[in-house]
Amino acid sequence: SKYIVIGAGILGASTAYHLAKSGEQVIIIDRQDKGQATDAAAGIVCPWISQRRNKAWYNLAKSGAKYYATLIKELENDDETNTGYKKIGAISLHTDQEKLDKMEERACNRRENAPEIGEITRLTVNETQNQFPPLLERYSSVKISGAARVNGRALRNALIQAAKKHGAVFRTGSASLVTNDKNIVGVKVNEEVINANRVIVTAGVWANDILKPLGINFLVSFQKAQIVHLQIEDTETDNWPVVMPPNDQYILAFEGGRVVVGATHENEKEITDTRVTAGGLYEIFDKALAVAPGLSDATILETRVGFRPFTADFLPVIGPIPSYEGLYVANGLGASGLTIGPYLGMQLAKLVNGEPLEIDLNLYDVKKAIQPE
Ligand code: FAD
Repeated sequence: SKYIVIGAGILGASTAYHLAKSGEQVIIIDRQDKGQATDAAAGIVCPWISQRRNKAWYNLAKSGAKYYATLIKELENDDETNTGYKKIGAISLHTDQEKLDKMEERACNRRENAPEIGEITRLTVNETQNQFPPLLERYSSVKISGAARVNGRALRNALIQAAKKHGAVFRTGSASLVTNDKNIVGVKVNEEVINANRVIVTAGVWANDILKPLGINFLVSFQKAQIVHLQIEDTETDNWPVVMPPNDQYILAFEGGRVVVGATHENEKEITDTRVTAGGLYEIFDKALAVAPGLSDATILETRVGFRPFTADFLPVIGPIPSYEGLYVANGLGASGLTIGPYLGMQLAKLVNGEPLEIDLNLYDVKKAIQPE
């Protein structure tokens, strides 16, 4: 049968890849909106030391982090080696030894069901600074060897490329749904109607615009995020770990001296407001340089802006839209969508194909994100 995926962020790209790989005919359509979350994302994959207690979220994030090992191998088998993924570990900083004790304990407990966490090591102030030289010599840390960084842009592109190798067709444009009574007929893109048996909406913060004409009020909200890319000279940064400071920001290095700092959490902004602001930059630099003053002399390369898609209870949703035959959505990946997206896309592909799932759909019920009429 024929499938159409609307939205090629990390979630749609993964869904299309897995569908194409299973032999289905797939068309993936993307509007390349300014503010695509995947394009701006930092790239931390380290859900295990989060203090968030919600089990449904943790199970998804944990499965997502674990799934990377499998996915990257599969992409390599498809000759996609530029995935932007590298397991370099993370150091979580603090000055308070009791807080670090608790963190270490949490990680050790969770490792029983998540061996992919890897080695958990306590580092002294000096060892911590050696791991990431721009840091102030003040923090001790817990190092988690299984943590990784991923370049969302590179992974998204690798997934799309690999999907194409399995026969998927990629189209640029703005898609709207075409229905006949309560059945999905296909989509309209660039004035052309393309028929399909099933349509999958993975359109991030823009999903409501797609569902509204059907009388469906889809409750996805968003948070604007600004994030800065810096360049430090003559330093090999490829193996530096992800840094998780005690504040609500992070610092992570990529190859070739690129260091990413951010990000802001801005509510009550317009979805069209993709500006880089004075206040946004001030907050990012204030927090980053307090922790890593060694970055003061770095060159500013660029600032990216993205919108994190959220549901009311901050949990992803996935499933068929109840009143329409052949229409599926997944959304609400929030601040951990690079971690969750590849795995959830794999599950979504299975769902659409009628195969058994690993996740309990009731925990991520789409109906929670639909306002009753
Ligand atoms: P998006 O990536 O936003 O993609 C949606 C796509 O749908 C867009 O390309 C849009 O153009 C397209 N679209 C919408 N409407 C239409 C239409 N009508 N027709 C065609 N196409 C359409 N997560 C982590 O795990 N770790 C991190 O370190 C991390 N850091 C982040 C840092 C920042 C600054 C931001 C913004 C996010 C971060 N995230 C992180 C979260 C993660 O990036 C998001 O949760 C995830 O990328 C959401 O993916 P998505 O595919 O649902 O949406």
